[in-house]
Amino acid sequence: MTRVSWDRYFMNIAHEAKRRSTCDRKYVGAVIVRDRMILSTGYNGSIRGLPHCDEIGHMMEGGHCVATIHAEANAILQAARNGVRIDGATIYTTASPCWNCFKLCANAGIVRIVYDEFYRDERSFRVARQLGLAILSLEEAEREAMREAKQGAPRTKRAATKRPLSGSARRTRGSA
Ligand SMILES: [Zn+2]
Ligand SMILES: [Zn+2]
Repeated sequence: MTRVSWDRYFMNIAHEAKRRSTCDRKYVGAVIVRDRMILSTGYNGSIRGLPHCDEIGHMMEGGHCVATIHAEANAILQAARNGVRIDGATIYTTASPCWNCFKLCANAGIVRIVYDEFYRDERSFRVARQLGLAILSLEEAEREAMREAKQGAPRTKRAATKRPLSGSARRTRGSA
């Protein structure tokens, strides 16, 4: 048996979360991790307590189903509900984030986004570069981790130093 990398391990768990999705227009799962510990998980689903798309159909608007809360947003919300700090964390998502989820990730203090399948949005990639927020495919993340393992540098600190010197970046660096 080949031992999976940390990045693939967390992505596999995101794929497991995806299996709980209830909108068949796009099944997505997400896992938020810091220091190799899972802080929260999420998947694409309706507002808590309301029927799901696979029961009552979609709520279509501009070619997208707007009934659901996306996996990344739900993972951030789960952390909020439980009072878990996600500043400086990595989010693993089975599909690259839409613009709205990207914005949530950025302001939640997530410093690294790892996605499996490219979905959208090009704009997120451009803005991520501007912010110094790492957004990587799973393969890129694995390659980066391998390089860092060779150099012997802890990856959370390195991810945090990519951010501009905002207050939250300094906090992250201090506590990583
Ligand atoms: Zn739907
Ligand atoms: Zn989204």
